[in-house]
Amino acid sequence: MAEESDVIVVGGGLAGLVAATEIADAGKRVTVVDQEGEQSLGGQAFWSLGGLFLVNSPEQRRLGIKDSYDLALQDWMGSAGFDRDEDLWPRRWAEAYVAFAAGEKRAWLRAMGHRIFPLVGWAERGGYDAMGHGNSVPRFHVTWGTGPGIVEPFERRARQARDGGRLTFKFRHRVDALIATNGTIEGVSGAILEPDKAERGVSSSRKAIGDFTLRAQAVIVASGGIGGNDALVRQNWPAWLGRPPASMISGVPEHVDGRMIGITEAAGARLINRDRMWHYVEGIRNWAPIWPRHGIRILPGPSSMWFDANGRRLPSPLFPGSDTLGQLQYIMSTGHDYSWFVLTQSIIKKEFALSGSEQNPDLTGKSWMMTARRATNKGAPAPVAAFMARGADFIIREKLADLVEAMNALAGNGLLRTEELKAQIEARDREIENPYAKDTQVLNIHNARRYIGDRLIRTARLHRILDPAHGPLIAVKLNILTRKTLGGFETDLDSRVFGQDGKIMPGLYAAGEAAGFGGGGMHGYRSLEGTFLGGCLFSGRNAGRAAAKAVS
Ligand SMILES: Cc1cc2nc3c(=O)[nH]c(=O)nc-3n(C[C@H](O)[C@H](O)[C@H](O)COP(=O)(O)OP(=O)(O)OC[C@H]3O[C@@H](n4cnc5c(N)ncnc54)[C@H](O)[C@@H]3O)c2cc1C
Repeated sequence: MAEESDVIVVGGGLAGLVAATEIADAGKRVTVVDQEGEQSLGGQAFWSLGGLFLVNSPEQRRLGIKDSYDLALQDWMGSAGFDRDEDLWPRRWAEAYVAFAAGEKRAWLRAMGHRIFPLVGWAERGGYDAMGHGNSVPRFHVTWGTGPGIVEPFERRARQARDGGRLTFKFRHRVDALIATNGTIEGVSGAILEPDKAERGVSSSRKAIGDFTLRAQAVIVASGGIGGNDALVRQNWPAWLGRPPASMISGVPEHVDGRMIGITEAAGARLINRDRMWHYVEGIRNWAPIWPRHGIRILPGPSSMWFDANGRRLPSPLFPGSDTLGQLQYIMSTGHDYSWFVLTQSIIKKEFALSGSEQNPDLTGKSWMMTARRATNKGAPAPVAAFMARGADFIIREKLADLVEAMNALAGNGLLRTEELKAQIEARDREIENPYAKDTQVLNIHNARRYIGDRLIRTARLHRILDPAHGPLIAVKLNILTRKTLGGFETDLDSRVFGQDGKIMPGLYAAGEAAGFGGGGMHGYRSLEGTFLGGCLFSGRNAGRAAAKAVS
């Protein structure tokens, strides 16, 4: 006999939790189904840095940043590059989302106890013209407490709703099918997986020990993207980028398996923009992996020199932190799937941050004392120092010739020539003598240091890379790291899913990464960063509120 509730939410990640809490708060009964155990509640968001895209926030204003909805929308549209018929709803979602980020997003979170680290980061800086890709101003607001800090208010509300009898969790329940009657979605069915005490993020058993069926008036699919499924990433790889990389590391746990995307599509939902993805090109292999092929993304400051596998500097404006997709396209065009940062000890200690809650114990642990050391530390932050000591992709040498020799050894080829790297580094080093320059990367560094947030904790003082006083020299081999799915199920602004016949599928909603964070791809081709968690908040909230209203 099938159990009943008003709404079923598939996925206990951030989008699912937001949707479920809205439904419960509206007085309706909701069941949250997740294939993982209770220890993994919160999904990817727990592991995240908690970076949020906000527009014209008090934090920005305190730092003298002038931002507005119009400027943010200009940046968003320049980055998204919407160019398809199916971008109708994604574009509408983009406009609505930027309005949310410039409007009630911060106050809504704040009322639930969410707090923000006061220095605003500047991600995806672009480097083209005013209408091109990138953030014109810093907008990356890090949650005080990182990923766990963004999950906490919703987890708390969900547990309260459970205690009040309006919310039921079904952990270790894997949905294998949507139940439909005459085109209306009425429930889910699947397998009950054996209990598994695997730590959060560690792959858990997929052994089924039973079946289940759940019925409801509405189902919200909030099952995440495909980033943990190497085969699906390859299958959906954009044709315009050529062949997929020979090797990729994974920036997400294995439960981001994309299975539910196929299941929902098989039930008739319209999946759009499936070839749009957001993978990083500054991935390093984790020396202490939690999930398979576990990689970490370096969030680079602007000063490292970036070379391709052949030892050629990446062309302007593809400097660290400028244009993730442009960098991926360039790197793929070299015929290799990796590239190199070359930098100094002075740069690494000020500019290297690693994405992920576990890589930022100061912010995650909400320790002002530890966080203040980012500005004053003599060496690199402890998690970065651990990678320097133990990471397979780090090389540290006093002399350039020794560095290049070790880089060739690590790559297993002899593609790099010391003289060629030396000539390019020396040319760049000559550009720093004046307060003006022609080298665009040097110009960017001058620009960055005019922003107090960068000067304090993100951008090293300009110095010669080959100055031994700033050494030793460091090379980092950068891998392609899979992370986000930008396409998804086409939805209207109430998160209702369109069917393959172009009509709304009664009873079906989608939110978070599964919905391309809203509409089936509100980012278009590129993200301004901090827009994924925010996309879960916005689409999860819309889905929850609309579903609660729709059920009797
Ligand atoms: C290390 C890291 C750092 C990040 N940093 C940031 C950041 O700073 N800012 C930002 O905006 N974004 C960031 N992100 C991205 C962001 O965290 C994710 O895009 C977002 O949390 C996705 O949430 P979701 O709810 O859509 O999906 P998920 O978190 O993937 O949750 C989906 C849930 O659905 C469950 N599920 C899937 N299929 C089924 C099924 N068939 N049956 C039952 N359950 C199923 C899964 O087990 C999972 O619990 C980061 C991500 C990572 C991993």
